[in-house]
Amino acid sequence: MAEQLPDTELRCTYCGTPAGDGWLGIEVWREDGGGAKDLRVDVENIGFCTEDHAGRYFLDGRLPPPDFSEPETLPRTWRDRLFDSGVLTLIVLAAALVVLGVWKLVDWIWS
Ligand SMILES: [Zn+2]
Repeated sequence: MAEQLPDTELRCTYCGTPAGDGWLGIEVWREDGGGAKDLRVDVENIGFCTEDHAGRYFLDGRLPPPDFSEPETLPRTWRDRLFDSGVLTLIVLAAALVVLGVWKLVDWIWS
């Protein structure tokens, strides 16, 4: 009976061999050329069992076309808003304490 491997196991993108000694991981970074202001990128992380398979993969033109679509964002929940409000409150409180501390220090120096 063949061992069932979990889906999360790293496999060679070219031949499907499980990752082992000599594993070669490559990050492919592609830009859409929209300029620095509207720069969109597509990043692919792919791995190979050998350099030979990495070379064959690219020479065969198997790299899929880039995907420049916007990543999905999760809707904000009331817990997110409550957390943001708490953080904002702490920042305002910290700023007020800094101002009060500076005020008291100046008052102490001049008195
Ligand atoms: Zn391979």
